[in-house]
Amino acid sequence: MENIIIVALLVIIAAAILIYIRKAKKRGVKCIGCPNKNCNGKCNKN
Ligand SMILES: [Zn+2]
Repeated sequence: MENIIIVALLVIIAAAILIYIRKAKKRGVKCIGCPNKNCNGKCNKN
């Protein structure tokens, strides 16, 4: 029965991440989770 709890936790975490990303996109954030507020989203291509 512990597997059900683990799966439920993973689903909740995934949902929270999706909600966080949606809210960030609504705010116009181009680079989610980036410490550089002036980043234009190209920092991952370095
Ligand atoms: Zn960035």
